[in-house]
Amino acid sequence: MRFYQVEEDRAAGYTGDLRAVPRWGFPGITACPGCGAGGGQAGLQYPCVDLSSLPELERKELEDPGRQVGFEDFLRLRERVRPHAPGWARLEPGADFGPLTGTASGTFGPLFMQNPWSLYLRREALEQLQGVGVRGLTGCPLAVRFREKSPPGLLALQLELHGRFHPDCLPPDRTPPCPKCGSVRHAMPEPPILDAASLPEHTDLFRLDAWTTLIVASQRLVEAVQRLALDGVSFRELRVR
Ligand SMILES: [Zn+2]
Repeated sequence: MRFYQVEEDRAAGYTGDLRAVPRWGFPGITACPGCGAGGGQAGLQYPCVDLSSLPELERKELEDPGRQVGFEDFLRLRERVRPHAPGWARLEPGADFGPLTGTASGTFGPLFMQNPWSLYLRREALEQLQGVGVRGLTGCPLAVRFREKSPPGLLALQLELHGRFHPDCLPPDRTPPCPKCGSVRHAMPEPPILDAASLPEHTDLFRLDAWTTLIVASQRLVEAVQRLALDGVSFRELRVR
């Protein structure tokens, strides 16, 4: 099985733009007691997680993810969110939850990326892909106001996290991700090489667990997208060892 990085395809000619933010999110942290790093991670997105049943005070704390809190405060918020999130989710500083809220303009392809770590599908594209056997596509509606009369019916994908880098592409003196906050302490390997043994067989689209801003598609998904003539993204083959 081959694997591909999913990238925005600007040549496809769509002009779509989401000026929107997730409804809830963990704040960043001021300083991690494990590694000293502050802030939060990009790419931990759980758009199908509904936190509307949390008490208002906690919801308010999760509606201002731009701020930073102490690590203990973060741990307290995390335990309130955990029962609402999938068991496999990495609940780390900066993680986002719930639907995107805001406004949107322009035209959207069947597949759309607002940035390299945020992938959206039109509902009919998701159904077409599922119809030909593509697995692992879980999408939830956006709460975004579209300027156009007929909104594109975009769904935000909630992607599982799978996969490691092969040791051959990592610096030999690397330290593992911080066990407390999850932050990775090496640069993106160039070129990245994925560890074949760590790649999933049950899903055709996932976020790389070792680098959460990288979205990976299986050959099965890529072939289905091409066969169905869906556009809006391009695929770059990744090395696997
Ligand atoms: Zn840390």
